[in-house]
Amino acid sequence: MANFEGRIALVTGASQGIGRACAVELARAGATVALAARNEAKLAEAVAEIEAAGGKAAAFALDVASEASIKAGAKAILERFGKVEILVNNAGITRDTLVLRMKRADWDDVLGTNLTGAFLLTQALLSPMLKNRWGRIINISSVVGRTGQAGQVNYAASKAGLIGMTRSLAREVASRGITVNAVAPGYIETPMTAVLDDKQREAMMAAIPAGRPGTDVEIAQSVVFLASDAAAYITGHVLDVNGGMFMG
Ligand code: NAP
Repeated sequence: MANFEGRIALVTGASQGIGRACAVELARAGATVALAARNEAKLAEAVAEIEAAGGKAAAFALDVASEASIKAGAKAILERFGKVEILVNNAGITRDTLVLRMKRADWDDVLGTNLTGAFLLTQALLSPMLKNRWGRIINISSVVGRTGQAGQVNYAASKAGLIGMTRSLAREVASRGITVNAVAPGYIETPMTAVLDDKQREAMMAAIPAGRPGTDVEIAQSVVFLASDAAAYITGHVLDVNGGMFMG
């Protein structure tokens, strides 16, 4: 079992779904967790759940699509905790449609939130991590960043971009005791996938050898592993957590 006692973690998109599960699991393993997202009411609920279980958590309103909000949020988190040692870039959105129908805004919104947001937040928090000579950066990519998916050129590009960013940054910071990895979930039951229709759901299920969707907690457990001391020598890796949907 990982022990993050005394460590400070930050999870973006922690108001629901996978991010919320990551925050809960990191706190359960002893980390003090900063939960960031736009929906402050849901963040407060998640913080209350963690505290009720004896964990330590705090909410920060942060919009990863806004550079100003990222700067202000990072400043507030550093003022409160002094550093972020475990950063989980999880916030993400979809704007699915076939390429000829895709608006420039659909592209910009998805790339801005999923990829540029992760880049800017990482940059804002990296200096104290480098000074501290210990860090874990975990980017939540997707199976479609590896395989592509019709109707998702924007989303798949953002998730493939995160993999390139992960591997490049891993090379830059490995000598400072910082690992940078990605988790690529398959089909996970969360509010994001609740909007799929029956046909889309059946197509997904047919592609999963394990015969079931994954859970947010299963993704969170892989994040906990990559953040743990047991994973100290793993960097630049993309961990597929997908029930066999894609084997890289
Ligand atoms: P979700 O239920 O839709 O949750 C997305 C989270 O991201 C929410 O907490 C949302 O919070 C936050 N978010 C969205 N835009 C944001 C912004 N501009 N600033 C800050 N936070 C923002 O999705 P999920 O299924 O948990 O997905 C989490 C991550 O896993 C995403 O990156 C997604 O692409 C990835 N993923 C999911 C699946 C899946 O099957 N579910 C598969 C592969 C990868 P607010 O609305 O409160 O801001």
